[in-house]
Amino acid sequence: MKFLLLLILIGLIIYLSGARKGGGSSASGSGQNSGQGAGQDATQVMVSCAQCGLHVPQSEAYPGRGGQFCCAAHRSAYEARHNGAA
Ligand SMILES: [Zn+2]
Repeated sequence: MKFLLLLILIGLIIYLSGARKGGGSSASGSGQNSGQGAGQDATQVMVSCAQCGLHVPQSEAYPGRGGQFCCAAHRSAYEARHNGAA
């Protein structure tokens, strides 16, 4: 009789753990939306400064004749050096 009681108890535990997994899957589905929003910042295009080699986002870079630059000072310094050599 004790064995039968233990079997019912184990069956009840398996049933309850299965019910928890079913409820958890619907909760994790809503969490995927927040993960996609954070991924958009990570996929930003990076460019390297032609003067110092510093990597900056393309949206914040200074486009010049010699390429992309991290700041206006490096752009003018790079163009001044090339103008002086030529
Ligand atoms: Zn630079």
